[in-house]
Amino acid sequence: MTESADLAPIREAVRTLCADFPGEYWRALDRERAYPDKFVAALTKAGFLAALIPEEYGGSGLSMSAAVAIMEEVQAAGCNGAACHAQMYTMGTLLRHGSAEQKARYLPAIARGEQRLQAFGVTEPSSGTDTLSLRTTAVRDGDSYVINGQKIWTSRAEHSDLMLLLARTTPRGEAKTRTGGLTVFLVNMRTVKGLTVRPIRTMMNHATTEVFFENMRVPADSVIGTEGEGFRYILSGMNAERILIAAECVGDAKWFIDKAAAYAKERVVFGRPIGQNQGVQFPVARAYMGMRAAALMVREAATLYEAGEDCGGEANMAKQLAAEASWAAADMCLQTHGGFGFAEEFDIERKFRETRLYTVAPISTNLVLSYIAEHVLGLPRSY
Ligand SMILES: Cc1cc2nc3c(=O)[nH]c(=O)nc-3n(C[C@H](O)[C@H](O)[C@H](O)COP(=O)(O)OP(=O)(O)OC[C@H]3O[C@@H](n4cnc5c(N)ncnc54)[C@H](O)[C@@H]3O)c2cc1C
Repeated sequence: MTESADLAPIREAVRTLCADFPGEYWRALDRERAYPDKFVAALTKAGFLAALIPEEYGGSGLSMSAAVAIMEEVQAAGCNGAACHAQMYTMGTLLRHGSAEQKARYLPAIARGEQRLQAFGVTEPSSGTDTLSLRTTAVRDGDSYVINGQKIWTSRAEHSDLMLLLARTTPRGEAKTRTGGLTVFLVNMRTVKGLTVRPIRTMMNHATTEVFFENMRVPADSVIGTEGEGFRYILSGMNAERILIAAECVGDAKWFIDKAAAYAKERVVFGRPIGQNQGVQFPVARAYMGMRAAALMVREAATLYEAGEDCGGEANMAKQLAAEASWAAADMCLQTHGGFGFAEEFDIERKFRETRLYTVAPISTNLVLSYIAEHVLGLPRSY
């Protein structure tokens, strides 16, 4: 299964851009937990973050496979796309379910990078993975809604103009269906009142936050699609998210494998390169096989997505296999470097911390396994 030759220039262009953002750049930001403004601006200017926005709205109008190539190259170059990957896919909910007026108002500005739609407010501290039990409420009051509640892990909220927010508009017991009663809002974070954002310091530089809504009033035309249908809209955007994050994990795995193979060739101990020992070379080879297998699943998921076919199983499997491959490659790379793997200047410990996230977020391993068990294999629902 070879990749289309059309993607080679895109890969090359991303590699060229990333060469301006070497390890020192990321290390300095990591120490301060600072946001990579320059990197995000460069990706935006090149049109990469607008890859999936159609040309009629000023985007690059590229395919999912092209978006996969972009994110994979970013990570394979040692950069960190987590700072901005949501700009690529969060707009999908607006694109698929927004009104013509909303799309015309927001998508061109998002494509130009003038408006950042990077904040995705779904997870709450009390509900966790059980999204349907979220407690943030939005109550209609004249021509606006009043929102109260809290979200957690709302990444990039400080670096976003807009937030896609999921809130309950009909009490759970009164909703017509099990998944009904939740509504998606596009919130202008710059103009709204009653919104507080608090950064959470994490083990890696991720710009994540908790956000609080206290009588936050938003205009009624902030609703995306139909009131009460929000859960379905959020789910419909998840395949793109899974596929792109899987691509990032494949890129991470490539970075770890390249780094380990290069080091194993040059590091001499007991009078020979460490990579001459099977005990060192086999884990590198195993990590490589894992990465290649995951990349195939990412490609299959992207191909189905482009064809407009159901790709829920493939997107979930791609994300899980790629997250496992990148984590295995990270562990292998650190082991191959021995003590030097722990030194900041090698960048391995930083990438090791960064890639660990993806077996937990945006969906954790157990929930992917439950999805496959239930939706692909027809086993009874377990939760
Ligand atoms: C750095 C970071 C960034 C994030 N960014 C965002 C963001 O931008 N927007 C957003 O909305 N969310 C975001 N998240 C939230 C992320 O999606 C959740 O952390 C993730 O989905 C897991 O949910 P949880 O943390 O609530 O775990 P919980 O739901 O509390 O689960 C804890 C553990 O129990 C397991 N578990 C729970 N229920 C079951 C079950 N029925 N069967 C088997 N196992 C189960 C889970 O798999 C997990 O391992 C982010 C999280 C992190 C850490």
